[in-house]
Amino acid sequence: MALKNQYLKELLERVEKRNPGEPEFIQAVTEVLETLQPVAEKRQDLIDAGVFERIVEPERQIIFRVPWVDDNGKVQVNRGFRVQFNSAIGPYKGGIRLHPSVYLGIIKFLGFEQVFKNSLTTLPMGGGKGGSDFDPKGKSDGEIMRFCQSFMTELSKHIGADCDVPAGDIGTGAREIGFMFGQYKRLRNEFVGVLTGKGLTYGGSLARTEATGYGLCYFTNEMLQANGKSFEGKTVVISGSGNVAIYATEKATQYGAKVVTVSGSNGYIYDPDGIELDLVKQIKEVERGRIKEYASRTSHKNAEYHEGSVWTLKCNAGGIKLDIALPCATQNEINGDGAKAIVANGGFAIAEGANMPSTPEAIETYLSNGLLYGPAKAANAGGVATSGLEMSQNSERLSWTFEEVDEKLHGIMKSIFKACDDAAKEYGMAGNYMAGANIAGFLKVAEAMKAQGC
Ligand code: GLU
Repeated sequence: MALKNQYLKELLERVEKRNPGEPEFIQAVTEVLETLQPVAEKRQDLIDAGVFERIVEPERQIIFRVPWVDDNGKVQVNRGFRVQFNSAIGPYKGGIRLHPSVYLGIIKFLGFEQVFKNSLTTLPMGGGKGGSDFDPKGKSDGEIMRFCQSFMTELSKHIGADCDVPAGDIGTGAREIGFMFGQYKRLRNEFVGVLTGKGLTYGGSLARTEATGYGLCYFTNEMLQANGKSFEGKTVVISGSGNVAIYATEKATQYGAKVVTVSGSNGYIYDPDGIELDLVKQIKEVERGRIKEYASRTSHKNAEYHEGSVWTLKCNAGGIKLDIALPCATQNEINGDGAKAIVANGGFAIAEGANMPSTPEAIETYLSNGLLYGPAKAANAGGVATSGLEMSQNSERLSWTFEEVDEKLHGIMKSIFKACDDAAKEYGMAGNYMAGANIAGFLKVAEAMKAQGC
């Protein structure tokens, strides 16, 4: 979609100038501004209030040194980030990514996306994101603990249960959240819900672990049903083998689909008999091992391991046929060629478990080929929505049952789909859920920003 609106075009030029060397952030802003064109044309009041101008600039960006001592007694230094993007509708909320690729541009793109995603959840959460270029791979528990403690020693000065509530993301799971929570408590002498994704013995919510993957399938199911389709009997290609991929596999299978792939950072498993999820859980959740091992350990004889991206959709017998694609690995994992392969191999629907996993060329390919497309900020919002439910439970000092949380999550994902569908229809782009997500997510934040002034 080209940017024709003169005001937004000039705004994007200013954003590009002000944020050099941050292609992921520019990509995220460009997509949102393109789909907000009909809003800009209808809502001069929001332009006059400077809302578009303000929403693309983070409220606060914190960069800090994270020194820690490795197992050889050597001091290591990483860089830590927290971008507090927007607090118009609630305290900043968003995960912490620990991955060597992390730099300010990645955290800004994630924080920007989080603003719209959190708005869609219907819960009162602003948007933020944090992280570090620390690589948890191959580190001992002691090294992870010392890194997390050092990271939190600085971060604790900037967050709080009513101010900014971080959570997990790539590289940050229950273990890391536990170490960070412990350090915050020691520093502040406060037992409060300052982080979500906590362990169940100290304020975590049931169903938080499953929430992003389950929510992705709840959203996808709504999208399929609205278009006269379902998961039943369908073949699903999933990338990733973390939390999101594991629980998306579980829920898609419960819906009657067959999931035939999972992937790691170097390669993927193709199992035409359907992924044996217990084995994936054993390798990834218990052993923290590599997904490659699946091929030699599964009882399924036809399972194959291939180096490279799953989105080539290649296997020894030729191409991997699919109906539904659920990318759950990382940003820009599907490029134009990957999207063409999805179309050529039979895919008719795609919903994003990872944040911004599709390049602009890939999205263009989905839309021009009439694929049902569930964008990340709507489709993967179940994780942060359940974080919001964890915050509610912490405030009440109560904990809800798995069924209660799961039912609320299901209801939230239904209402997110409806909000995307309705907004797309209202602004003349029926069936374009990406436009619908951006518009619906934006409008709630925009009204709050206008009401609150600069
Ligand atoms: N990192 C997740 C996301 O991208 C969850 C954030 C949270 O729970 O705060 O939405």
